[in-house]
Amino acid sequence: MGYKNWQLHIDDQIATLVFDLENSGANTLSTPAMKELDAALDEILKKDTLPRALIISSAKKAGFCMGADINEFRESTDLALLKQHVEFGQTVMQKIADLPFPSIALIHGFCLGGGLELALACRYRIGQYDEVEAQLGLPEVRLGLCPAWGGTARLPQVIHPLQALNMMLTGRTVKSKAAKRLGLLDVIVPKRQMVHAARYIALNPLPKRKFQVMQKLCHIALIRRLAAVFVTRQVKKQATPEHYPAPFMMIDAWKSYGGLGKEAYTLEVDQFMALLNTETAKNLIRIFFLQEQLKALGKKASDRIQHVHVIGAGTMGGDIAAWCAFKGLTVSLQDRTAEALQNAMRRANELMQTQFKKDKRSIEAVMDRLIPDVNGEGVVHADLIIEAIFENLALKQEVLVSVAQRKKPEAIIATNTSSISLDDLKTALPDPNQLVGIHFFNPVPKMQLVEVVHTENVDKNMSERALGFVHQIGKLPLIVKNCPGFLVNRVIAAYLLEAAHLLDEGVSVTQLDHAALDFGMVMGPIAMMDLVGLDICVEVVKNIDGVIPKILSDKVAAGHLGKKTGEGFYTYKNGKLQAPVDTTGSNSMGRDAICDRLMGALINECVACLAEGIVASPEELDAGIIFGMGFAPFRGGPMAYAKSLGYEQIIEKLKGYEKTIGPRFKPAAGWTALIP
Ligand code: NAD
Repeated sequence: MGYKNWQLHIDDQIATLVFDLENSGANTLSTPAMKELDAALDEILKKDTLPRALIISSAKKAGFCMGADINEFRESTDLALLKQHVEFGQTVMQKIADLPFPSIALIHGFCLGGGLELALACRYRIGQYDEVEAQLGLPEVRLGLCPAWGGTARLPQVIHPLQALNMMLTGRTVKSKAAKRLGLLDVIVPKRQMVHAARYIALNPLPKRKFQVMQKLCHIALIRRLAAVFVTRQVKKQATPEHYPAPFMMIDAWKSYGGLGKEAYTLEVDQFMALLNTETAKNLIRIFFLQEQLKALGKKASDRIQHVHVIGAGTMGGDIAAWCAFKGLTVSLQDRTAEALQNAMRRANELMQTQFKKDKRSIEAVMDRLIPDVNGEGVVHADLIIEAIFENLALKQEVLVSVAQRKKPEAIIATNTSSISLDDLKTALPDPNQLVGIHFFNPVPKMQLVEVVHTENVDKNMSERALGFVHQIGKLPLIVKNCPGFLVNRVIAAYLLEAAHLLDEGVSVTQLDHAALDFGMVMGPIAMMDLVGLDICVEVVKNIDGVIPKILSDKVAAGHLGKKTGEGFYTYKNGKLQAPVDTTGSNSMGRDAICDRLMGALINECVACLAEGIVASPEELDAGIIFGMGFAPFRGGPMAYAKSLGYEQIIEKLKGYEKTIGPRFKPAAGWTALIP
C-alpha cells in the first residue's frame, strides 16, 4: 500500500518505516500522518511472516519529529473531536508498544513531544551524536499542556522518575550524550553507523532493561506521595497552580499512578483536555505562533551574514560580538581601548564556558572566530557593521561616517542606540536611508527579542537583510518604527514611571514588586528600576517630559543608583539582590489596585504605540512586550490581556484615573480604533 507520509520497506526480515511528512521541511504527527502510521502498522502485522523487527526513522534533515501538529489544536474548537484524536494517538502508540517483535526508533535532530512519545513506545532508541545531534524532550508544558500520547506514563518507566518529572515539568531538551546517561537512549552512534546499529540491534536485541531501584521504589504509593510533596514545593518556587496548572497536574498524575496501568493513560487524556480549555494554554499556544510569526520575518533575506564588525566593546558590544561568534559568524570587535577589548574577550570566554561546559574544542572554535581589532581593520571586510559605542550623538555620527567611507558598498550599517533618534544619526551619512537600528536588549545572551528599527525611507533591502541577520543568530526580530524608546523601552518607561509614582504615594517596595510578580511579571518594577539604573530612569522621564517622582530624584541625589552602586531601592552584595532598603509603606493599597494602575499605564502606552504605527499589529506588540520585557506570558501579552478585560472597561478606568490622578492617564488616541 502507498503512503503519502511514510515509506514502508521490508527486507532481510526487517521492516523499516521512514517518516517523511508530505510538503513539509519537518515532521509533525498530523492526523493524516497518524492514520497512515496506524495503517502501516496493521499492514506489517497482517503479513504471513512477521518481520523480526521494526525500525522507525525520519527522512527529514531537521530531525526525527517535532511532535503533534499544534495547528490542529488551535484551529479546532470541537473538544469531543479533539479528545477522539488524542485517544487515537494513544492507541497507535500502544500498538507500537505491543508489537510482538522489537521496535527501534532511530533518532537524529529534534525528537520532541509526540515525536518522543513515539520513540518511547518503541522498545529501543538509538541516537545520533554528531552532525545533526539527537535532542529529546517533552516541551508540552511550555504550551500550558501535558503530553497526551502516553509520555507522562512511559517516560518515568524508562528513566529515573524524578529525572522524568524534571524533563516534563520544565520542558527542557536533552542532547544525545546526556540522554544516554539518563537511559533515554539505549545506544548513541555517529551518523555513518546509525542504520548499521539499528539493523544489528534488530537482529540481536539488547537484554531487557532492569528497573532502577528508584523506579521499583516508586511502585510504592507512599514513596511517590512523599516525593510529590518535595517536587511540588520546588515547582511552586517558579510557578503558581492558578497561572500554570500543567506542571501540578503532571505531578498529581505521577503521584496517583506512577505511570502504571491503564488509569495512568486515561488520566493523561483527561488532564490534557482540561488543560487545553484553559486561558493559559490558549495564550501560550498563541504566543508559540507569534514566535513563529517573528521568526518568519527573518526568513525572507536571501543572503547570510558571514562577517560582523562590532564597534564598542562595552556591556552591549562585547556581548553582541560574543553571541555572533557563538552562532558561527566571524566577528571583528573594535574599541578605543585595549582594556575594553580584553574585558570583552574575557567575558566572551566566560559565556562560552557556560554554553559548552567542558567542551574545550567548541570554546576554542568560538574564540578563534572572535577577533579583537583596535584599528578597526574588519570594517572593510564585514557584511554588517554594528555601532555600540557611548550614547552620544556627535561621537556616534563620527564613527558612522568613517564606517560609511570604508565599508563594502553592500554592507549594512546598524546602530544599537537605545535612545538617540535614527533620524538624527543618519543625517551625517552619504546615503542616510542605509542606516538601520538593530536594538539588542541587556543581557544579550538571555534576551530573545531584537528590535529592527526603521526610519521613514529606510532601504528595504538593508532592513530585510538586518531581519535575516537577527534570525540567523537565533533571536526574534521585531520591526519597529523610529521613535524615542522604540517600542519596548517606551512601554517599560511608562510602566516603571507609574511604579515610581506609587512609591511616592506611600506604597512600599515589597507591596509593589509582590503585586507585579503575583500578576505574573518576570520581575517586579522596582527591582527592574534598580537593574536599569535609577539615574537612567530619571533621564528617561526627562526625555518624555514626565514629572520625576521625588523618591527617584532623592535616591539619585544620594548616589544610590541601583544594582550598579550596590544600593537603590534594594541592597546588593556581589551583584546579587539582598533586601529592600525600606519595607515600610504608608499606603495600604491592595494588589489588584496596584496592578490596575501599573497595567493601566502600560496598556495605554501600548495603544498609543499602535496608533502611531510604531509596531504593525497588536499581535506583534504582544510578542515584543513578552519577549523584550518579560510580560506575563500566560496572559498572552498586554493587548490580549486588555481584550480579555474589555476595552470599554479599561477606558473607563483610565478616565477615572485621569480625573483623580492626572493627565498622564488620558486615554491614548488609539483606543477608538480598537472598539468595533
Ligand atoms: P558601554 O559604556 O558599556 O560601552 C561603550 C564602549 O564603547 C566602551 O568600551 C568605549 O570604550 C567604546 N567606545 C566609545 N567611543 C568609541 C569609539 N569612538 N570607537 C570605538 N569604541 C568606542 O556602553 P553600552 O552599555 O554597551 O551601550 C552601548 C550602546 O548600546 C549605547 O548606544 C546604548 O544606548 C545601547 N544599549 C545599551 C543597553 C544597556 O543596557 N547597556 C541596552 C540596549 C542598548
